[in-house]
Amino acid sequence: MQFYSTNNASHKSDLKSAVINGMAPDKGLYMPEEISVLPESFWQELPDMDLGEIGYHVLKPYFCPTIPEEEFKKLTKDAFNFPIPLEKVSENISTLELFHGPTLAFKDIGARFLARVMAQFTHDLDQNINVLVATSGDTGSAVANGFLGVEGVDVYVLYPKGLVSDVQEKQFTTLGQNVTAIEIDGTFDDCQRLVKSAFMDDELQKKLVLTSANSINLARFLPQMVYYFYAYAQAIKQGKTDIVVSVPSGNFGNLTAGLIAYRMGLPVKHFIAATNINDIVPKYLDSGIYSPAKSISTPANAMDVGDPSNFVRVQELFNKSWDGIKKTITGFVCKNEEIFEMIDKVFKEEGYILDPHGAIGYKSLNELLKDDEFGIFLATAHPAKFPETVEEIIKQKVEQPDRLKAFLAGTKNVEELSEEFEAFKKYLLKTCK
Ligand SMILES: *Cc1c(COP(=O)(O)O)cnc(C)c1O
Repeated sequence: MQFYSTNNASHKSDLKSAVINGMAPDKGLYMPEEISVLPESFWQELPDMDLGEIGYHVLKPYFCPTIPEEEFKKLTKDAFNFPIPLEKVSENISTLELFHGPTLAFKDIGARFLARVMAQFTHDLDQNINVLVATSGDTGSAVANGFLGVEGVDVYVLYPKGLVSDVQEKQFTTLGQNVTAIEIDGTFDDCQRLVKSAFMDDELQKKLVLTSANSINLARFLPQMVYYFYAYAQAIKQGKTDIVVSVPSGNFGNLTAGLIAYRMGLPVKHFIAATNINDIVPKYLDSGIYSPAKSISTPANAMDVGDPSNFVRVQELFNKSWDGIKKTITGFVCKNEEIFEMIDKVFKEEGYILDPHGAIGYKSLNELLKDDEFGIFLATAHPAKFPETVEEIIKQKVEQPDRLKAFLAGTKNVEELSEEFEAFKKYLLKTCK
C-alpha cells in the first residue's frame, strides 16, 4: 500500500519511508491511499480474537507484505501484550481501560507497535535512527519505554519544563540507555515546533536520520484502531447496541484511529470528540471555522493542545466536509471544575476512580448519551499518574501499580535547552549518531 500526503494527494510514499520520515516532505501528514472494508469473516471471528489477532487482521492491509505476514503476526502479538478491559462504570456507561501497559497510558499501545515496526526497518540502514518526540506528558514516556533498548534507534524526548507531572516526568527521565530527555524552557507547542523545525531543516536532514514518534507517525496512530474493535467485541458480547464512543482528545490521533476503524466497518453510532478548555475542535464543529490558539494548561494536561496536529487527517477522512464531520462526530468541552466534579461524583456514586482525562470522557457521555444508547469512553491514563489532582478530590490514596513504583525510585537525568531552534539544532548535530 502507498501513503499520500494530506497536502498533495499525488505525493505518494511507501510504508518504509512514510514511517521513517514521519511527515511528508511538503509538511503534510501521511494517509493510507485506500481504507479497505473488513470482510464478513472478520466480524464472525472477532468475538474470539485476542488483541494480537485483531491487530494482525485490521493492520495487515497497511503493513503487509512490506513486513512479511508471519513476521507481522509475531509483531502484533508482542506489541499488544497487555489487557484492555471494558469495565462498567455506571448504568449505560463503560470505560475501555487503556492504561495497563508499561507507562500506564494508552500511548503505550501505539508506541510499542511503532518501535517494533521501526526496528524492522533499521536493519538495512548504515546510520542510527534518531527519534525526536515532543511530549505534553504521556507521549514521552510511552515512546521512550516502547523503544528502550531497541538497537539502532536513539530517542530524544522534548518536554516543557515544569508543565508535566512528577510521575510523568520520572517515566522518561530515568531510563538511560538509548533514551535522552530534554527539558525545554517553553510550552508543549514550543517543543512540538522544535521537533517540526528539525524535520524541515536541510542540514539536519542531510546529516542525520531523524524521525518522529508523535501521533503524526502513521505507525503510531494506526495501531490504536485495535482497541476500538476489541471494545466493540466486548460490548456485543454483553448484548449492547447503539454504541457511542467518547474520545478524550488532544492531538486527535486517538480519534483519527477510531474514524479509520469506522471506515473499515466498525458499527459505532457516532463519536464524541471530548476536549478540555482547549476547545478548538468542538468550536470548529459548532461554527465550521478552525482557529488554532495558544494552548492553555489544565488538570488534563496531556490534552492541552492548541493546534491539534491530526485534525488535518480528520478533515481528510471527510473530504474536508464540515457537514460530513458533524454527522459522525459531536464535540464536547469540559471545564476544569467539571473535571474535578466528575472525579468526585463517580468515586462517591460508583466507587470508580477516574483520572482527569477519563473524567472528561465520562462527563461527555453523562451529558450527551441518549437513553437507548450505550456509551464507552476511553480511559487514556491510570489515575495513579495524577495523584496530586485525584487524591485531593477522593480524599484517599490511589494505589500505585508496581511498575509505577519502580519509575518513581529512579534518578532523573536531563539535558536543558531554551525554546530556540538554533540551540536545539546545535545540540542535535553535536550529539546524534
Ligand atoms: C495523549 C493523551 C490524550 C490525547 O490523545 P490524542 O491522540 O493526542 O488526542 C488523552 N489522554 C491522555 C492521558 C494522553 O496521554
